[in-house]
Amino acid sequence: MLRFAPSPTGDMHIGNLRVAIFNYIVAKQRGERFIVRIEDTDRERNIEGKDREILEILNLFGLEYDDLYYQSKNLTIHQHMAIKLLEERKAFACFCTPEELESEREAAKSKGVAYRYSGRCELLSDEEVLKNEKPFTIRLKKPEKEVQFDDLIKGKMTFRPDDIDSFVIMRADKSPTYNFACAVDDMLHDITLVIRGEDHVSNTPKQIHIRNLIGYDKEIEYAHLPIILNEDGKKMSKRDSASSVKWLFEEGFLPEAIANYLILLGNKTPKEVFTLKEALEWFDLENISKAAAKFDIDKLRFLNREHMKLMDSKELSRAFGFADSAIGELVKCYLEEGSTVKEIKPKIEAIFSAKPKESEWSEEMAQLAEAIKSAPAFESFDEFKSYLMQKTGLKGKKFFKPLRLLLTGAEHGPELSHLYPHLKSYLLEIVK
Ligand code: GLU
Repeated sequence: MLRFAPSPTGDMHIGNLRVAIFNYIVAKQRGERFIVRIEDTDRERNIEGKDREILEILNLFGLEYDDLYYQSKNLTIHQHMAIKLLEERKAFACFCTPEELESEREAAKSKGVAYRYSGRCELLSDEEVLKNEKPFTIRLKKPEKEVQFDDLIKGKMTFRPDDIDSFVIMRADKSPTYNFACAVDDMLHDITLVIRGEDHVSNTPKQIHIRNLIGYDKEIEYAHLPIILNEDGKKMSKRDSASSVKWLFEEGFLPEAIANYLILLGNKTPKEVFTLKEALEWFDLENISKAAAKFDIDKLRFLNREHMKLMDSKELSRAFGFADSAIGELVKCYLEEGSTVKEIKPKIEAIFSAKPKESEWSEEMAQLAEAIKSAPAFESFDEFKSYLMQKTGLKGKKFFKPLRLLLTGAEHGPELSHLYPHLKSYLLEIVK
């Protein structure tokens, strides 16, 4: 079983989407189930409605999941597991206050050494623990030996006990920390492979250690994806607008192109333009580069245009918010004029909007509009053109410039002869 485990704490980041896509692909390839687990245990950071937004995005990308879980539903299991670890003395109650811990952290920082928990509460006797009525967290005892795992992308990873440290698994309000809830749930859901971002690498030994102490001996494989860098070579953060899937949609990028781009990024693929379905045939985590990949919006724009070319006119119409597939045909004529829905849509809308009255061609436009209103339906542009020329007596520049303005609302654009077949059934609406 594979899983996508987003936290409902903000807009979906392209890094998260990439993780979702990869988990989906590998689950399909292995014939295993793919589940979504909303990691909503950090109540303070949760944002109302973000879970639904994430699920809608998965839906738009066609990432179907077999089951949906909310981590908070497992709260009592997390609590029971933590108490069991306490009873078995694999964990201990920690009464250190946030202020004490903070000043220890500060002290370590000013000495220039990495902060480690002092170990103070691990030494308390049972009596001291029982008579203490102050709030406490539960800390897991650090491992005695190194923790190792073989990452499918990064290779062998080794962590020393001190780097794992005695860490908190239950907060003072008795909610589980991310590492504890995640480690327990991956076990409960019988997860076989975890694909996630590289920012989680240091969590992995902690999660393995948790399951070791619980006594779960089934090995879970891991693949940590290199981070995505922005155009300045820095980690792509919330401040980079292109990191938000929502923003990319607003800018008129299509799910097909975004998915293509995220699979292509830092990967060796047999081709450059492909669909998610095609990627199922050849995708292999082993081809993912160990190095961070740089986000290149121009590449995404190129792919967006390529996918618009590939789409049939009905799909394309829908992507532009129209039901009539003739609009999709029209869009195809405009693909050289822009790369995104946002760039091309105004050009399509201009065709159907009122045309500028104050143009230097307004007289000719009025003449042409009259002629079009009384014209019979012509199949070909040539017939249409000859009819209008004859009717109005206009020719050359004086004919083509105003005709273009009248039909498209723009001075430049695709050949009128290419546009005509797709405009001809709307002519009265266009010149109204
Ligand atoms: N909830 C974590 C996040 O959104 C992901 C945890 C995981 O994949 O293990 O970053």
